[in-house]
Amino acid sequence: MSGQHNSFVDLHTHTIFSDGLFTPEELVAEVSRLGFTAIAVTDHDSVDGIDRARAEGRKRRVEVVPGVEMSCNVNGTDIHILGYYLDYHQERVQDFFARIRQSRLERAERMVAKLTELGAPVSFARIKELAGAGAVGRPHVAQAMLEAGAVASISEAFERYIGYDGPAYFPKLPLTPLEVISFIHDNGGLTVIAHPATYGNDELLYTVIAAGVDGIEVWHPEHNERSVARYQEIAEKNRLLMTGGSDCHGGRKLGRVYLGDICLPYKYLMTLKQRLRVNQ
Ligand SMILES: [Zn+2]
Ligand SMILES: [Zn+2]
Repeated sequence: MSGQHNSFVDLHTHTIFSDGLFTPEELVAEVSRLGFTAIAVTDHDSVDGIDRARAEGRKRRVEVVPGVEMSCNVNGTDIHILGYYLDYHQERVQDFFARIRQSRLERAERMVAKLTELGAPVSFARIKELAGAGAVGRPHVAQAMLEAGAVASISEAFERYIGYDGPAYFPKLPLTPLEVISFIHDNGGLTVIAHPATYGNDELLYTVIAAGVDGIEVWHPEHNERSVARYQEIAEKNRLLMTGGSDCHGGRKLGRVYLGDICLPYKYLMTLKQRLRVNQ
């Protein structure tokens, strides 16, 4: 199923196993309907949706690339790293993600305590319910605040309380880029820095390149033409892989469902697979 001309892939998607709205089956059905040849499932800190997506992919002849999206911290900025083809069935991989998800739960608990102190009480049980099988994140906290009437909108929750400068903001487990990259490498995968234009600072990108990242996500709905050209050039200069994806969460963001926004030619996935073989 590889090497087709005129075939497209999307290497960045989320399911209900993180903060997406699609089940793995719905996601694969949707990309199949849109005519994609392959997708990567890249949930935040979770590999639990991959097997279900792969089973559906076999039925619908969609190649499903196992992936994950992890967070690391550089000088207070949260940077996302995509990991592809890591050996996700290994117990140590599953344990590692379980530990990260546990720390995300504890972080949400701290946010709830702080919000109560600030006079905007919100239910921790409801936050957990909203996250379901997925990793708890700030969008779930914001949703619970909205439901509780503590804020009038999701954006108000971020602006007044849980945004980076907000009084109830707590950082995630502070892993370094090197820790995240080594973890994925040690488990047979390749790493790509996600949506670099969203960090507002290319210095951070060079820190991640120095830590040994394998590629740059060049194409992303939040990248304009100029950033695409810049990241292509940086990738070429540093002999890094180039990837792209819609970062689809299933819902609408900026009025669109992102799925179908990025149609990456299959050759980029081929190159990624070749790099993987060279490493092995
Ligand atoms: Zn991300
Ligand atoms: Zn993402």
